[in-house]
Amino acid sequence: MYGFSREEALGQVSAKLLQTRYPGSRASAYAIVMQNGAWEGRLVQTRKDGAVIVVYGKWALDRASGRILQVNREVTDQVATSERFKLLVESVQDYAIFLLDTRGRISSWNEGARRIKGYEEHEILGTHFSAFYPQEDIETGKPERELRMAREAGHVEDEGWRVRKDGTRFFALVVITALYDPSGQLTGYAKVTRDITARHLDRQRLLDLERSKSAFLNLVAHELRSPLTVLRGYLSMFRDAKPERRRELEERSLPALEAKTIEMIRLVDQMVEVARLEEGSLRLRADRVDLSTVGEQAVGLARALEEPPGHRIVFEPFPGELNVVGDPERVQMILSNLLSNAIKYSPPGTEVTVILDRTAELGRVAINDQGVGIPLTEQIRLFTRFMRVERPDRDHVPGTGLGLYLSRELARRMGGDVVLQWAGSGGSSFALLMPLAEK
Ligand code: ADP
Repeated sequence: MYGFSREEALGQVSAKLLQTRYPGSRASAYAIVMQNGAWEGRLVQTRKDGAVIVVYGKWALDRASGRILQVNREVTDQVATSERFKLLVESVQDYAIFLLDTRGRISSWNEGARRIKGYEEHEILGTHFSAFYPQEDIETGKPERELRMAREAGHVEDEGWRVRKDGTRFFALVVITALYDPSGQLTGYAKVTRDITARHLDRQRLLDLERSKSAFLNLVAHELRSPLTVLRGYLSMFRDAKPERRRELEERSLPALEAKTIEMIRLVDQMVEVARLEEGSLRLRADRVDLSTVGEQAVGLARALEEPPGHRIVFEPFPGELNVVGDPERVQMILSNLLSNAIKYSPPGTEVTVILDRTAELGRVAINDQGVGIPLTEQIRLFTRFMRVERPDRDHVPGTGLGLYLSRELARRMGGDVVLQWAGSGGSSFALLMPLAEK
């Protein structure tokens, strides 16, 4: 009857193999037979060739062995087509399929509707279907509008949020079809609803990603434009300068040219690193790195790049070496990032201190500034991609919101971390933590 061979069937859970559906109610034939010892009635099952059949089952529980003896007789042919169809609709699980009367009150219910919306048949029959709509849709008359459109056009499709019995929302794909009798008289509506919340959220996530990507491209273009404008300005000065003035101009402009070039290189490097991170093609070395040496180099570079009036950048040396395991170039990149932030977000003339120390397992480089600090509400989002603290326009500081995200990701992938230690009106302190190398 089912088309499965003995070998295929033995040892299988029959309900799964045959996709047994028990129409009409939440309880399954299995639950009833376990409880009462016996069950008898109609089931919808699927044959091996995919054909859906209706069977009449007589089941008994053998309490001694805990087994269920099932005698199922196919009655597909005896069931009138309309009734077969009704049984099938009732047993569909992934779609809520139900009927409304001419005034929009629910007059039939299926298994899918119960699963998606959470109401049992006896709770919902007779209720107006607006019960499934959020309050704001009811206030704008959406349920009635949809019935009217179904009447006028034959059917109406909609995607939107709907409410379950427990008050939670799901994103639904809904089709309402107006039903007419042969004389053309409206008899009611058929409504098919599908829960597409997961698909909807995926789509939303993609849209958000697209949006943040284009915002980012805008930002990068903007950030690259300002150093490029400086370079172009100097180039035209060189072109127009008389030969005897070139020497003096060179001396005056070289530091700025160098600083702007490095600013652009950093930005491009950051973007390349982030792209590698996201593609999963980032390869990190695990070398022995002396934090004292790398720290001092990063400080040297930061000092060289400062345009007057600069900051007092104080490097407090560590007695001896402070060896950690990591990728030297990335450690350098992280420290340069943190230092450049400390400088960018604190006024000239203030102090930036770089302090090294260690715990039993970690080497630490703390970078403290006396700058603007970071509002408490922003602190938890600091390490998010593209995140920048909104500040008044006059305080605009160039940046892309990638630095801290990248620094933390890189540090974590090397077994360390980047943390905000404190931030307040007196400034901020960030630290790079890295796992110590063995002696
Ligand atoms: P960017 O500096 O390019 O904007 P980051 O990811 O490095 O990006 O930093 C994110 C945000 O965190 C910055 O926009 C800034 O508002 C804030 N921030 C980072 N470092 C400091 C600091 N030392 N002091 C104050 N704010 C900081």
